[in-house]
Amino acid sequence: MSLDYGLLRTLHRMLRQLTDIGERMEKGPRKVRIVAANEANFCKALDEAKASLLEMRKASNAKQLQLNEREAKVEDMKNKLNACDSNKEFQLLKDRIAADLQANSVLQDEILEQLEKIDVLTEGVDEAKKNHEKSQAESKRVGDEVALDLKALAAEKERVSSELAEKEKEISGDLLIQYRRLVTAKGEDALGVTDTETCGNCNQTLTPQTINDLLMKQPVFCKGCGCWMYLSESHPSA
Ligand SMILES: [Zn+2]
Repeated sequence: MSLDYGLLRTLHRMLRQLTDIGERMEKGPRKVRIVAANEANFCKALDEAKASLLEMRKASNAKQLQLNEREAKVEDMKNKLNACDSNKEFQLLKDRIAADLQANSVLQDEILEQLEKIDVLTEGVDEAKKNHEKSQAESKRVGDEVALDLKALAAEKERVSSELAEKEKEISGDLLIQYRRLVTAKGEDALGVTDTETCGNCNQTLTPQTINDLLMKQPVFCKGCGCWMYLSESHPSA
């Protein structure tokens, strides 16, 4: 019985195609995971920017309230000036009003500083919002693209698998069992091309007997990696 190396070559090509399809099918979900992680980071950044802004607004409101109270107090003291019984009392009250006005002016400066910070933080929130929206759009785009790719790849896998199953029918009885065992264990490396010097999979040097068997188109399995070998297309005996 002599082997058809063309058949083994075709089977090997199909097995490699299936490996390639499998690898491409894994790439898509990996891309989806990356953009999802990106989106989560931008979402977190937005939450943090919002929290900082809220905190600054609260602090600013509290200070404004404090200032309002102190200003009311100053007005109150001003009203009491006329009711002073003595010059000393009048002077004391005037001094207190002056001191409070000074303190209030410091407070006003602090509030202004806070308002400037609020402006900067507001810009930060807007920027974070834009980044987050962009990352959401990117997630959607990649998700749709990957879903489409996966659909096409699944169809391709289906097609190659059925072509492979059809071709495998051409392998005769005992060899088919051995072939199946090899494919289950090694995938595309179940088959290996050789130029009659070394195994194309593991580089093991072939013995003269192996070479002879190959040239006689007998089923030959590599003594190194165990693959089923076939002659390369360019070999004269192939
Ligand atoms: Zn080998």
